[in-house]
Amino acid sequence: MDADVVRLLIRRLQDGRLPHGRIGEVWFQAGTGQRCDCCGDVITPNHTKISGVSVDEWAAIQFHADCFRIWEVERLVPVPT
Ligand SMILES: [Zn+2]
Repeated sequence: MDADVVRLLIRRLQDGRLPHGRIGEVWFQAGTGQRCDCCGDVITPNHTKISGVSVDEWAAIQFHADCFRIWEVERLVPVPT
């Protein structure tokens, strides 16, 4: 697990740029050059892209598969107030 990706993801969760809600339906595809909403890097065709919509925030997301797994853990950590 890349610590920089985790820090970036936590920051985006805390400032509301990434949703906390579960994804209603998840799609797995090869990347086609989109930017990952987590790390900001391009999702190339040799990476798996995971996309979907958060059912709580109605926010569309697209992540690298590795970033999605990190987000699935970190989204459930309470945001400090
Ligand atoms: Zn990523």
